Amino acid sequence: MPELPEVETVRRGLLPVMEGKRIVLAKVNRPDLRWPFPENMAVRLTGATVKALRRRSKYILAELSTGETLIIHLGMSGRMLISGGQVGEFHHAYPAPEKHDHVVMDMEGGTRIIFNDARRFGAMDLAPSMDVESHKLLSALGPEPLGNEFNEEYLVGRLKGKNSPIKSALLDQRIVAGLGNIYVCEVLHRIGMSPGRKAKDLPKKRISALVPAIRDVLSEAIEAGGSSLKDYRQTDGELGYFQHSFRVYGREGEPCVNPGCKGKIKRIVQSGRSSFYCPQCQR
Ligand SMILES: [Zn+2]
Repeated sequence: MPELPEVETVRRGLLPVMEGKRIVLAKVNRPDLRWPFPENMAVRLTGATVKALRRRSKYILAELSTGETLIIHLGMSGRMLISGGQVGEFHHAYPAPEKHDHVVMDMEGGTRIIFNDARRFGAMDLAPSMDVESHKLLSALGPEPLGNEFNEEYLVGRLKGKNSPIKSALLDQRIVAGLGNIYVCEVLHRIGMSPGRKAKDLPKKRISALVPAIRDVLSEAIEAGGSSLKDYRQTDGELGYFQHSFRVYGREGEPCVNPGCKGKIKRIVQSGRSSFYCPQCQR
């Protein structure tokens, strides 16, 4: 499932073919994904110019010249494919239409953008740009983890008295937006914090340490995603799914990578999701 760095990578991959470009023709091949598409979506997209391509949490927001913003969520398996034209580094020929190509946008300049989603947990919606932040998918989201609003003082305040484990608190999108299971595991390992620690029991100093760790882990992953874009020609035309080297996620039974630590990575299930951590150095 794409997390924030993957979505940011997709956004950066789409930038050269979408931002400032007109959607010459949009096609919508089914009535819904996770939810129904907005009425007349193809008509409302066709002819619009993408003024800006932003990201909020795990949503890509394409601000259109029509006063509306296209909200894109990749869900579990959503993929963005770029083909045609000779734009930037993207040289893929138009692929044969596939079964799960649900939305197709032909951009000025001959580039084709395809949203393919086999499992259909993804979503697209249109909202007035003026109050896109109050859209039902976005209104409850906490601050961006890489933005200024997310800082030590804020996090200490939000975690005060919270009875839930720190892992669950960090996955709470109202506290911080866009953090997912994989990167929370990585963050907690980086600062030696056990995922089971109750948020309310953590001293200020330890909570404060989370903020730079979150920023670093996400920034490094975004950077890795950026490098993956350079190799885009060699991939099968799919944006945002790149090779990661996780230090703790998915490494059950393997030795801890922290120098001097003799621990073995353990997997436990918290709120139905796997937590990977080192019982030796994460306290
Ligand atoms: Zn360890």
